[in-house]
Amino acid sequence: MKLLLIYAHPEPRSLNGALRDFAVAHLTAAGHDVQVSDLYQMRWKAALDPDDAPGYASDKPFNPATESHRVFVAGTQPADIETEQAKLLWADAVIFQFPLWWFSMPAILKGWVDRVYAHGFAYGVGEHSESHWGDRYGEGSMAGKRAMLVVTMGGWESHYSGRGVNGALNDVLFPIQHGVLFYPGFTVMPPFPIYKTSKTDADRFEQICAAYATRLDNLFLDQPLRFRRQNAGDYEIPALTLKPHLAPDRHDLGIHLLGEE
Ligand code: FAD
Repeated sequence: MKLLLIYAHPEPRSLNGALRDFAVAHLTAAGHDVQVSDLYQMRWKAALDPDDAPGYASDKPFNPATESHRVFVAGTQPADIETEQAKLLWADAVIFQFPLWWFSMPAILKGWVDRVYAHGFAYGVGEHSESHWGDRYGEGSMAGKRAMLVVTMGGWESHYSGRGVNGALNDVLFPIQHGVLFYPGFTVMPPFPIYKTSKTDADRFEQICAAYATRLDNLFLDQPLRFRRQNAGDYEIPALTLKPHLAPDRHDLGIHLLGEE
C-alpha cells in the first residue's frame, strides 16, 4: 500500500524524530511505499496569503477561499501546494504525526492544512444546495483513504480520560479528526497517543514502538472511528443538526459517532 507521513517536529533527534524513523523503517520493511512530508525540514510556508494566489488583483480585498478556488481550477497553484495535493491523491493512507502543542497541532502543520486543503480540493466539493450541503463529512476527495493521528503529549493518560482535566482525548482531537480528516472524506482511525513523554526512556520507547508497530500492521484492518456521514440521513437538511430521535437530549461531541443513540 501507499503510505504518506505528514510529520511536524523541529528537531530530528526528538522523540518524534525517533518515532518517524521507526514508522518509515517498519512500513518499508512490510513492503509499503512510503513518502514523508517533513514540514520543518521542507521549510514549509505556513501562512496562507496572497502569494498563494498568482494573478490576484490587489486592488480588491483578498478573499482566501475565492482565490484558492480560482488558482485550483486554473491549475496555477504554487508548486509546493500542488506537490502535497498529489501526495494525498497518491496515498492509500495518511499518518499525521506531531507533538500536541496547546491542545492542537503545531502551527506549521495547521498551515499545511490551510494551504494544501484548497477550495475545490478539500472543501467546496460536490453539489451545494438547500438539499445537499456538499460532499463532506464522510464524502469528498479523500474518500476511500484512511488517516490516523500519531500524537505525543506531555500530559498523562488520566489527564485526557473522560473526566480528565484536559478533556477526553477524542474531544480534544475532534476538530482535527472530525474536521480536518473526516470532512474531506478520510476514514478516520483511532488515534495513537503517546502520553507523559518526559518519562520516556529506552524501555518505554521499546514498548511504544511495539504498540505502534501493531497499529501500523493493522492500519487497513482495524475498525475506524464511526463518525456519522453528513449525507446518510442522520442530520436535518439544511440545518445540519442531528435528528432529534438520535442521541436525544445530548449535546456532547460523542453524538456524531454511530452507536451513540
Ligand atoms: P522530546 O522532548 O524529544 O523527548 C521526550 C523524552 O523522550 C525525553 O526524555 C527524551 O530523552 C526521550 N527520548 C527521545 N527520543 C528517545 C529515544 N529514541 N529513545 C528513548 N527515549 C527517547 N502537552 C500536552 O499534553 N498538552 C498540550 O497542550 C501541550 N502543549 C505544548 C505546547 C508547546 C509549545 C510545547 C513546547 C509543548 C507542549 N506540550 C503539551 C508538551 C509536548 O506535547 C511534549 O513536549 C511533546 O509531545 C514531546 O515530544 P518530543 O518529540 O518533543 O519529545
